[in-house]
Amino acid sequence: MKSKKLIEMEDKYGADNYHPLDLVIKKAEGIWVHDVEGNKYLDFLASYSAVNQGHCHPRLLKVFRKQAAKCTLTSRAFRNDQLPFFNKEMTEMTGYKRVLPMNSGAEAVETAIKAARKWGYQVKGIKKNKAEIIVCSDNFHGRTTTIVGFSTEDQYKDGFGPFTPGFKVVPFGDAKALEAAINKNTCAFIVEPVQGEAGINIPPRGYLKKVEKLCKANNVLFIVDEIQSGLGRTGRMFAHNWDNVRPDGLIVGKALSGGFYPVSAFLADDEVMDVFNPGDHGSTFGGNPLGAAVAREAVQVIIDEKLVEKSEKHGEYFMEKLRAIKAKSIKKVRGRGLFIGVVLDRPARPYCEALMAEGLLCKETHENVIRFAPPLVVTKKDLNWALRRIEKVFKKLG
Ligand SMILES: *Cc1c(COP(=O)(O)O)cnc(C)c1O
Repeated sequence: MKSKKLIEMEDKYGADNYHPLDLVIKKAEGIWVHDVEGNKYLDFLASYSAVNQGHCHPRLLKVFRKQAAKCTLTSRAFRNDQLPFFNKEMTEMTGYKRVLPMNSGAEAVETAIKAARKWGYQVKGIKKNKAEIIVCSDNFHGRTTTIVGFSTEDQYKDGFGPFTPGFKVVPFGDAKALEAAINKNTCAFIVEPVQGEAGINIPPRGYLKKVEKLCKANNVLFIVDEIQSGLGRTGRMFAHNWDNVRPDGLIVGKALSGGFYPVSAFLADDEVMDVFNPGDHGSTFGGNPLGAAVAREAVQVIIDEKLVEKSEKHGEYFMEKLRAIKAKSIKKVRGRGLFIGVVLDRPARPYCEALMAEGLLCKETHENVIRFAPPLVVTKKDLNWALRRIEKVFKKLG
């Protein structure tokens, strides 16, 4: 079936909650995707960093197939033979003592919120129902009603209230504001080390170090949402590694399954994770053997293929080349590793559409930022291919 027909069908029967670029992908491999007409595109979004390992990675496909033929779901009413390895390997990779697996990123964020609140009552001694969590302006942590309730993006909230109380917002990158907002009821500060959806916002140097100190001094949990920035995206395994901090809690998702299956997790040490007792929290699919097997392999691929190192090296190269492009519309190029935003003085959508026509897929974020975040398996040759198209589009559109 032709794209046009498929798009009509999708839109006729589906809810209108997305505004996708109009190509219909049929096949994807590594950094390339193919549409139903047979056109080939370089994917510079990587499914919002869920396919850092590249599309349909052969090692993941192999593990996925093998595990799917054996056992996919047990629920946590019973145990399975993959979860123990997932738990052990995740804690060894991150350095946290314990892990709690979920599916979507938003669920892992909800898990962190629950853990932080319960820790606040049981360990810190906050009075019942008084716990407060501090978050940042321009945050993106997912789409549940609790999470959108503390978003600063009007559209994310409009029409979805009333919202969960107990959250306070401070400006991103402002440690003084955080200090002023902390009180005896504060149980946690949740932050993205680099804000992806907000347009690749990088906080000032030393910010996370100050945050860590403030949280320690005030007995507040420092929790990072690395769902998008983690697993190699920024040229470190986790973006907070750039600042040499050790948060009390870590939230991961997206690339944790290399795009095969929703797998997310919350990680922390015993003092935090011990607040959970049987029946407190759970998920039918969380920790299932198919997801656990794929996630184990997805992490191993990142390590074996040195994707973290590649992200740093290629990110530096690509940013340098982007900065050399002379165009009136470009205000700034910012990024870390292959997590790059080109800030324009005008809407970015026409640029994304023009790039698509040239065979390069990327997506605008926050109106006037073009996000470049290809799968981390991208090579220098691929980057040069992309740069030629990007230069052409900026030459044309200014
Ligand atoms: C994508 C994302 C989420 C939400 O993950 P879902 O799997 O879409 O629920 C949360 N936090 C950050 C930083 C994200 O980028």
